[in-house]
Amino acid sequence: MMNQLEADMQLHLWKFVRGDGAPQAFERWIYQQPSLETRLGADLYLEVISTDFQDSEAVWSIRERLGSYVHSLSGAPCCCIRLRDLDVVDMGSFRAPAPAFERDRKWSHEDVMGTLVEIHRRGEPRWWLWAAQCTACGQAWLVGSDERQNDIFCLRRLEQAERNAIEEHDRWPEDFDGYEDLLRIGREAGRGVRFADPLGSSLGDTMADLARARPCIKVSELASLLNLDDDLAVELAHRAEARDGVTITFDVEPSK
Ligand SMILES: [Zn+2]
Repeated sequence: MMNQLEADMQLHLWKFVRGDGAPQAFERWIYQQPSLETRLGADLYLEVISTDFQDSEAVWSIRERLGSYVHSLSGAPCCCIRLRDLDVVDMGSFRAPAPAFERDRKWSHEDVMGTLVEIHRRGEPRWWLWAAQCTACGQAWLVGSDERQNDIFCLRRLEQAERNAIEEHDRWPEDFDGYEDLLRIGREAGRGVRFADPLGSSLGDTMADLARARPCIKVSELASLLNLDDDLAVELAHRAEARDGVTITFDVEPSK
């Protein structure tokens, strides 16, 4: 069983390895840990304290070194500690994101989501949004399930106070309040599906929902969020206006 001090140390090391928080904050933390040298061993400790935390290449390199170290430690049988404060988990086959230390991680979404149980649901119209707790380590997460467009789970780590606000007062952080937020996070993480039959797919509904949530949204924005070329976006937008009575701003011209 890990004591509190070791658990806290692991948490801080992982946070730095994941790339959450400023390197300078990690550097300050190092010097407040009298037992860190014993934990890491003399060689690794020396590497850490001689790192220039202003230099991004040096920071990357020490993250990789500490990444191998924290991987070798035992911990809770879940993936929480390895997930960034804001992370994207693909449904089905897993696409490992940067940084390099996770390049060969072999997860499926079941490995990540298998220990997460729902503790609260946001409710309609935000069908994608729920809060979860990990049965292995107790970490709470804000979860946005985008199974309509990019087939991803967007996860955001919840502080205890945020979790309490959700459970006791139904007060939620706004990060995933818009479906558009999930699409943007997916796009920034390099996800973008192409539908085989775009006109017969869910794209029309998604477009209408986005325009309902933000009237006069531009076609160019819809094209970017939904990974569409301009012609297709214009055609779908015209259909959405006619069928769903939403208003879209046509800021691009079809090429034909
Ligand atoms: Zn966990």
